[in-house]
Amino acid sequence: MNITAFSKALYSTWIYYSPERILFDAGEGVSTMLSNKIYAVKRIFLTHGHVDHIAGLWNIINTRNNAMGDREKPLTVYYPAGNRGIELYADFLKRANSELRFKLEFVPLKEGDKISLRDAESTNRYILPFSVNHTYSETAFGYHVIEVRKRLKEEYRSLPKDEITNLVKTLGNEQITETYEKKVLTVSGDTILLKREDISDTEILFHECTFLKREDRKFNNHASLDEVIDLVKDANVQTLVLYHISSRYIRSIERTLKKVNVPGTKILFVHPERIFEF
Ligand SMILES: [Zn+2]
Ligand SMILES: [Zn+2]
Repeated sequence: MNITAFSKALYSTWIYYSPERILFDAGEGVSTMLSNKIYAVKRIFLTHGHVDHIAGLWNIINTRNNAMGDREKPLTVYYPAGNRGIELYADFLKRANSELRFKLEFVPLKEGDKISLRDAESTNRYILPFSVNHTYSETAFGYHVIEVRKRLKEEYRSLPKDEITNLVKTLGNEQITETYEKKVLTVSGDTILLKREDISDTEILFHECTFLKREDRKFNNHASLDEVIDLVKDANVQTLVLYHISSRYIRSIERTLKKVNVPGTKILFVHPERIFEF
């Protein structure tokens, strides 16, 4: 189990990705629900400044500063540069907690920045923020977790194993392999809809799906189910996790989602009233 999440549109959203100890967004209740795991979080990536995505920050800071867990571990909070709501909140948090026992840092990000996750050269992963369309007043990001991997160059892929072993001996590993970048996780944040190029080939896609029926949407700020399903068709997404679902669908959600099917893609959803684990 690598992911623990909670998401209910308008109320609270957070996604904890344990392999990298990252929290994407920090909605209300996150410390209460993650409990001891809140000490494991090293980095928080905020998608935007709406209160259902950031309200839990104050609690995280307070819990880590006062409870019995490890108080020394630094915490870095990344956010879309220029997001005024987050900057005001960060300023308040720093002032209200002027004597923290751990190092708390807020780091503004621009689209395309690469945030390296590991220092060891053998396992190379980084976070890549990308811009998304949400509301006019919000600078909003989605995030990719990208892994740099190695594979055989195309011309060697069909060769039998012993020939490849020979080639490694004669030419060396470097000559016959190439590096490529694989999206292992993509988080949409709140958005009208991501672009095909942003989501294609990702292993796990968390896409917001506030509306299960398009006709329930009044403003063009959030995605609806039919659009998200269309988007992932033929996009080589292994697992699609629908989240940020409006609580108006609590009674019908399971019935509705049973009917959707995308060949080659496993579809899951974060129930607006339950902790999601995957
Ligand atoms: Zn939201
Ligand atoms: Zn929002």
